[in-house]
Amino acid sequence: MPSVARDVAAARRPSPAPPEAARQPVNCWREPESLGGERVPAFVVILRTRGCYWADLKGCSMCGYAKDTLGRSASPHELRQQIDWALRQYRNEPYVKVYTSGSFLDDREVDPSSREAVATAFRGRARRLLVETLPEFATAETLAPVREAFGGEVEVAMGLESADPTVLLQFVNKGSPPDEYFAAADRVRSLGLRAKGYLLLKPPYLTEAEAIDDVVRSVRAARDRFDTLSINPVHIQNGTVVEWLYRRRRYRPPWLWSVVEALRRGAEVRGTARLVSFPTAGGLPRGPHNCGRCDPEVLRAIETASLDQRFDGLDALSCPCQEVHRARKALEPLGVEA
Ligand code: SF4
Ligand SMILES: [Zn+2]
Repeated sequence: MPSVARDVAAARRPSPAPPEAARQPVNCWREPESLGGERVPAFVVILRTRGCYWADLKGCSMCGYAKDTLGRSASPHELRQQIDWALRQYRNEPYVKVYTSGSFLDDREVDPSSREAVATAFRGRARRLLVETLPEFATAETLAPVREAFGGEVEVAMGLESADPTVLLQFVNKGSPPDEYFAAADRVRSLGLRAKGYLLLKPPYLTEAEAIDDVVRSVRAARDRFDTLSINPVHIQNGTVVEWLYRRRRYRPPWLWSVVEALRRGAEVRGTARLVSFPTAGGLPRGPHNCGRCDPEVLRAIETASLDQRFDGLDALSCPCQEVHRARKALEPLGVEA
């Protein structure tokens, strides 16, 4: 398996991109969010940068974001062009999320002056600015200038994925153990910023039932360190170890029923943390899905529960495919196809 990981990592690494590829972000869109208990639109932009250094070294088993990178660092001028492009689409949404396909706080991806330029661009227009990073880059040195330049609430998101070191380091293949994510979240909060943790539902090599248990245990372990915990069910991205397994019928994306169960059980142990899930590619064959008939309704209920922080509505959902999900959870450990 290590050679599979190395091969897929090498295959997904792009060659250095020409200047015209660096003038626009990867993408930007609007999505529903919640801010201070109020539903608001969020503006999301993904800057095109050199991408995640860890993806170059080893890479996580489910992550195909390297395809959205430049294969080289973006210059401050190129990043300024991307910011200006995004600002032309921006309609004063109060919640702004700026991602790279890696870490916003890694100087190799976004240099310090460009980070301040991003924060300044939304100063006085957005109430909250979210950026995502690996834990090693979440320091006072990188965060304080962003906080000063933005002036509003800064939220720092990190892909904790699992509080279980074996799951995180061996199955997800992350480079830092859970304790480093917890320490980084503590640093973020000690600076007066918000910490958000992503939890991965169904990394490879876990059964459906083990994956749900892992998320629920992770919610319990992380609830006092993060303000928000977001359950991210795996979707199959190109050029990943998960895709390699999927193509050989050794991996099925999680059921939406598993998201529902993780939210229901996670809500009971979340303490004061917000618990949300906004599945990517929900209802699609390569994303978290049920039977196809109930998927839209289940996805709507998951979104409503996440935005309103009320999880009892999930109990009212039902479809005959729930029985298949139950059977699969029970029989999968025996190696029986349900
Ligand atoms: S999941 Fe995050 S840390 Fe892992 S390779 Fe992708 S961008 Fe890097
Ligand atoms: Zn169904």
